Amino acid sequence: MPQGSSTSKVSRWDHHGREHVVRVLRAGIQRTIRCDTCGWRRGAQFLPWLKAEEHLAEVHQATVDPATARQSSR
Ligand SMILES: [Zn+2]
Repeated sequence: MPQGSSTSKVSRWDHHGREHVVRVLRAGIQRTIRCDTCGWRRGAQFLPWLKAEEHLAEVHQATVDPATARQSSR
């Protein structure tokens, strides 16, 4: 879980090995999440990372966590 930064992101790979990134932007207590791939955006007051993962999975079929993939490939 990211800590101490005002901008963070969630990245997932799809079945074709393409990376999709959703950025989490913070403005005060309000958080906005924005998808680099399709430009989708929405406000997310709670658990923006969860919403980001949902979007990536549903719209881009991107469910592979790069960090996990890297570990399991060894
Ligand atoms: Zn998207």
